[in-house]
Amino acid sequence: MNSKIKEKIVLFWFRRDLRLDDNAGLYYALKSGYPVLPLFIFDKNILDDLTNKKDDRITFIYKHIEDIRKELRSHDADILVEYGFPEDVWKKLSDQYDIAEIYTNTDYEPYATDRDKKIFRIVKEKGTAFKGCKDQVIFEKNEILSGQGTPYTVFTPYSRAWREKSNEFYLSSYPTKKYIKNLLKWTAPASPTIKEMGFEESDYDFPSDHIQPEKLKHYAQERDFPAENATSRLGVHLRFGTISIRELAREAKDHSGVFLNELIWRDFYQQILWNFPEVGRGKAFRSAYDNIKWRYDKEDFKKWCDGQTGYPLVDAGMRQLNEIGFMHNRVRMVTASFLSKHLLIDWRLGEAYFAEKLLDYDLAANNGGWQWAAGSGTDAAPYFRIFNPTAQAERFDPKQEYIKKWVPEFGTDQYPEPMVDHKMARERCLKAYKLALNAD
Ligand code: FAD
Repeated sequence: MNSKIKEKIVLFWFRRDLRLDDNAGLYYALKSGYPVLPLFIFDKNILDDLTNKKDDRITFIYKHIEDIRKELRSHDADILVEYGFPEDVWKKLSDQYDIAEIYTNTDYEPYATDRDKKIFRIVKEKGTAFKGCKDQVIFEKNEILSGQGTPYTVFTPYSRAWREKSNEFYLSSYPTKKYIKNLLKWTAPASPTIKEMGFEESDYDFPSDHIQPEKLKHYAQERDFPAENATSRLGVHLRFGTISIRELAREAKDHSGVFLNELIWRDFYQQILWNFPEVGRGKAFRSAYDNIKWRYDKEDFKKWCDGQTGYPLVDAGMRQLNEIGFMHNRVRMVTASFLSKHLLIDWRLGEAYFAEKLLDYDLAANNGGWQWAAGSGTDAAPYFRIFNPTAQAERFDPKQEYIKKWVPEFGTDQYPEPMVDHKMARERCLKAYKLALNAD
């Protein structure tokens, strides 16, 4: 046992909830009656998979943990930061400390669910309870079911049920700060540095964790136009829990029903992933779509990745993604559709590329978006509806402001010719989809 900490304690394990305010699991930990030791683990299973050693997300997480530490220190408390495989870390902590209970906020991704089951078994051997709280979403798992008691697989009725159920009880904040004095008073050992974990610190100018009510007023009219800076850019904060979904949902309710609808999409895809975890393991939501004979053309895929398709809206989007780790939602739809339908390349390759590049990458939303675009997902448009990337550009970037920002050589002889003819690509796609789906 750690020589300094002899008393029985409770551990609160931060994961994708990197804030002290309105944090459900931390709130329950602080009310447990035991002094609370906060913990974060840089998970080697996840970090080892990141090929870009300058990944901005590592710096984002690191900075927010340091902010948490600063605030904790002002209460004579601290945060323990570990770097390793979670099972090893928990074996060590179970031996080191006398832990009454562990609190966390539930992570609904298949990897996290499996990991937590293993940790649950490890700590149970010492008689320690492992408690998951709902924090990341307004409604989780099976909280919203259809009249038949089954999960909703279509968004509109789900969103209706969500709105009906979302009363003050679900939207009010957890007054975490009120119980902050229940933290364990101690000083943690030094945390591993970004460099020690094999990464480089990034100088990314991360988006703010606020949205102005003024911006929300124009959200409904402007959000579809990528040249306007009209969306919240809060994705990364929602991903890592540096803002509270309850606070944001209350603000949305007050100012913009359309913005609230986007937050409901987020809950929707989280419950899809929870109820149909195979979608997170590479399966099409509609299984017939796994019969499609995809083209695995490396050169074509590379052109798409590099933003060299000759379709300016697609190229602008991919270059925005490559340069700043963000892509506007409308353009995510167009680029994803272009890869899976125009190029007939397996959507899973695009999904993985976005996962590597997006600062706001979230398995549930990304998978939902990709399967929607490929036609295999929930709410998918009929397979024969294929975005025309030229028409999309004319409609959503009529002055070509977004295109010119990201593709400066557009309109000159340095810009490539379209890599595929729209009509040919459309027919090729229809043929392949029809064949797989036995459709007429
Ligand atoms: P805003 O328009 O300001 O929306 C506010 C928040 O609502 C977002 O930050 C997000 O948390 C949530 N949201 C909005 N739209 C959706 C949606 N369709 N599905 C789920 N949540 C939504 N979103 C991610 O958060 N992570 C992803 O990895 C991701 N990958 C996508 C891939 C594809 C192919 C598509 C079509 C969409 C994807 N989205 C993803 C959804 C959406 O594009 C982004 O949430 C949005 O563009 C982020 O910008 P914002 O924060 O300014 O959004």
